[in-house]
Amino acid sequence: MECGYTKLFHNGHVDFVEANGHLHHQHEDHWDECAIEVNDVNPVAENHVSGELHNDTCGHQKVAHGDHFDYLVNGRLQYVHGDHLDDHGPVDQVL
Ligand SMILES: [Zn+2]
Ligand SMILES: [Zn+2]
Ligand SMILES: [Zn+2]
Ligand SMILES: [Zn+2]
Repeated sequence: MECGYTKLFHNGHVDFVEANGHLHHQHEDHWDECAIEVNDVNPVAENHVSGELHNDTCGHQKVAHGDHFDYLVNGRLQYVHGDHLDDHGPVDQVL
């Protein structure tokens, strides 16, 4: 499959990330949807980082993480939390 999707290594498979942040991977003859789990690597934490407050038009890739969406910036998840950014840990992007 050749396409312009962002791809992530995740739990032994490769997910294709849609523009809206949803993750899909091919499982036998169908596609499964998944999301990055909330865990020690990708915690929902108050790890403040500086930077732009991302939005739907900023151009960064959205990524499903737990029950919310983050933005992918330099291999890490950034969550727009009110008036600041929180770092939600690294993801393994297929380059
Ligand atoms: Zn996955
Ligand atoms: Zn926060
Ligand atoms: Zn952005
Ligand atoms: Zn997150």
